[in-house]
Amino acid sequence: MRQGFGKSRASLKVWFWRAQRFFHTRARELRAIAKALISTKHPFLVHIIPTRRCNLACTYCNEFDDFSQPVAAEEMKKRLDILADMGTSIITISGGEPLLHPELDEIIGHIRRRGMIAGMITNGFLLTKERIEQLNRAGLEHLQISIDNTMPDEVSKKSLKTLDQKLELLGKYAYFQVNINSVLGSGVKDPEDALRIAHRAVELGLTSTVGIIHDHDGQLKPLGPREIEIFEEVMTLSKRSFSRFNQFQHNVARGRENHWRCRSGSRYLYVCEDGLVHWCSQQRGYPGIPLEQYTPEMRQREFFTTKFCAPMCTVSCVQQVGILDNWRAPQHLKPMPMTPPMPQSGPQPELVKIASGRGDS
Ligand code: SF4
Ligand code: SF4
Repeated sequence: MRQGFGKSRASLKVWFWRAQRFFHTRARELRAIAKALISTKHPFLVHIIPTRRCNLACTYCNEFDDFSQPVAAEEMKKRLDILADMGTSIITISGGEPLLHPELDEIIGHIRRRGMIAGMITNGFLLTKERIEQLNRAGLEHLQISIDNTMPDEVSKKSLKTLDQKLELLGKYAYFQVNINSVLGSGVKDPEDALRIAHRAVELGLTSTVGIIHDHDGQLKPLGPREIEIFEEVMTLSKRSFSRFNQFQHNVARGRENHWRCRSGSRYLYVCEDGLVHWCSQQRGYPGIPLEQYTPEMRQREFFTTKFCAPMCTVSCVQQVGILDNWRAPQHLKPMPMTPPMPQSGPQPELVKIASGRGDS
């Protein structure tokens, strides 16, 4: 697949600002890790949703719709202020498709003004040279695009063919770090695609990772021998990615359960477009408490709560957060019963289990 695609070169000016932002972000990441090792009282990573609407409709995804209005920037800033006051280190903006939000740059700017690291997960379709330069100015520090295949099909349009031009633009103009995630596992037609995507990312000076998806029953299934070879090769290509040192995904690739302590609801939060806190994108509905009512005691309780889904979990970002605390504080609590709905507040949201675990834009 590499033949036929062009190379792109960043100008000296872009290299300078990219290096400057890289070292600045890396220094803050190291400070954030040190802070997390000293204290367990604050969230390390939060995913926040400014819009549920998406311009695509990948058939495996249940994290989007085609009608939701964007959350007002003032409301997003209020939520970010609460998260900053909790001591949160990293905010990743997700969706839906965040680039559909008309005031996204204001939201990114607010994350930076409040001293947090700003990242975003996008499908990349709306990126242009001008949009990338706006994101540079807003202060974005990380961006991730997931690519599902080399040619678009009925399942996903997020293909190397449709996105390659966007990757070239990112390689040429982005000051922020860009990671390209590919997928292996259930439902992936051609596993060689993951390798082609990873090589192309590295060729353009971007990093690459690979995610492994469950089958439709949410079961861990070992990858085949060739898929494991591809997985290991992509991990080796990820020279700048922390994930290659993470045993978690290596176990997932072999269908082995992981024994770890998921600290979602405490060190990791998923804040949906309605401003409710959930364990993660795959376990939406619990605890389902409004962010402004989410107390330090609730976070502390979740820190010590066993997550029934942990052994088969494929959410690598939450597992990476878990590494900070796996060595301490065993979990001994059961999940609390759902908070009863308030009068007139309508039905409590159902627990949504997304078996495939790949609704990651
Ligand atoms: S699916 Fe994974 S990240 Fe989500 S709550 Fe369960 S163990 Fe934690
Ligand atoms: S996976 Fe991402 S791009 Fe695809 S429909 Fe879901 S939110 Fe949109």
